[in-house]
Amino acid sequence: MTPERADVVVIGGGVVGSCVAYFLARSGIDVVVLDPAPGKGASAGNAGLVVPSYTLPMSNPDALITGLRSLLGRAPSTLASPVSARTLAWLARFVLASRPGRAWRDVRVLHELAEFSRRGYDQLRSEADFPLWSDGFLHLARDRRTWAAEVRTARRLAAIGVRSEELGPDALAAIEPGLASGFVGAIRFPGDTALDPERTTRAFAEAAVRHGAVFHAERVVGVRTVAGRIEAVETTGPTVAGKAFVLATGADTAAVGRLFGVRLPVEPGYGWSLTLPTHASLLRHAVQFADEHVVVNSGPDRIRMTGGMEFGGRASQAPRPEAIATLRAVAEAAIPAMRTIADPGIAWRGARPMTPSGLPIIRLVRDNLVAATGHGPLGVTLAPATGRIVAHLVTQKGIPLRSS
Ligand SMILES: Cc1cc2nc3c(=O)[nH]c(=O)nc-3n(C[C@H](O)[C@H](O)[C@H](O)COP(=O)(O)OP(=O)(O)OC[C@H]3O[C@@H](n4cnc5c(N)ncnc54)[C@H](O)[C@@H]3O)c2cc1C
Repeated sequence: MTPERADVVVIGGGVVGSCVAYFLARSGIDVVVLDPAPGKGASAGNAGLVVPSYTLPMSNPDALITGLRSLLGRAPSTLASPVSARTLAWLARFVLASRPGRAWRDVRVLHELAEFSRRGYDQLRSEADFPLWSDGFLHLARDRRTWAAEVRTARRLAAIGVRSEELGPDALAAIEPGLASGFVGAIRFPGDTALDPERTTRAFAEAAVRHGAVFHAERVVGVRTVAGRIEAVETTGPTVAGKAFVLATGADTAAVGRLFGVRLPVEPGYGWSLTLPTHASLLRHAVQFADEHVVVNSGPDRIRMTGGMEFGGRASQAPRPEAIATLRAVAEAAIPAMRTIADPGIAWRGARPMTPSGLPIIRLVRDNLVAATGHGPLGVTLAPATGRIVAHLVTQKGIPLRSS
């Protein structure tokens, strides 16, 4: 039975909500997580990279130009029908946030958050059972212009402390023998790593439960307030009362936020993946094919390809077969060992919770409501930092958990 009262009610049990629950429960707080399908949202089929190097917000002039080209059918980010007025308004804010200089001012904030998160991963590994693998993240370029852009970005990132190495074709072949030839060069980010995101999310949830958190498969459908203060949430099961509430609902945040009377500019940015079984890891590194914007994470027993950034459309749409075929074709061209895999694999589509600025929203948004959302392409990377910050906000910032 769902407990009908908790100190903190976390809405959403993806990688972010599970991490929040873990850090709260670990501080001795009584936590309930409500989610009809915990760990089955964006946290399931994503690329599974922990990438403090990848912290340049997407709303920057270069990405904007790529995005505009994509509307002409020449890049993987797209607009899908139907496009709502809300999506158009969000895109307008995204364009404004893409003005020159803005992203490079925020990249430092995101990088520091990601580094803080990486240390959180070290702490979590002592309590949660999930492996990390890969010798870093390689950005690979076949086209000289792509290569020049990758080098420019890596050199700028170096100024804020992101370590990287520029590799020519011979050096690349020496460190990554699983790749075919044909690349002009690669940037290696040695501080990045990779994992299985579904297993890791489950491990965070299990660690939270060991500290006393309770997960219940209920959807939040309404909010009860008394004198302007949130007292309880109505669910598909019982009503659950709390002293504080955390909104960790990923790409559904705008809709769920409206139930709480808050407007949060979080828009689904759909992506897709294909996962194939393997007998061993086919690559030593996680890789990004920068020309095609396809990311590959090769783990001990499966290889996953991800790509796409689609705005508009519907959450319930299946991944497009041609988009999945493209992922496979790009990876097979570059990773010869993949060509013998006959299995059709598992195709998946999910939504990144995007904000116009690329910065997550981790703050009090009403007097006893904390938002932990909008992590865009970095939710796995930033989850431990988010959990720690939310636990700090709830325990240190005057939400009266223990007064009644
Ligand atoms: C193709 C792709 C590749 C990606 N690769 C990476 C990567 O390599 N590294 C990285 O760091 N990030 C990556 N991401 C981003 C990452 O997946 C997300 O940022 C992250 O999973 C968001 O986690 P979340 O917990 O906020 O959201 P979710 O995992 O979507 O969880 C939100 C939860 O809220 C629940 N919920 C919604 N409404 C309600 C309600 N009314 N009541 C109760 N519960 C509700 C949902 O059921 C869901 O379980 C990728 C994303 C995609 C799509």
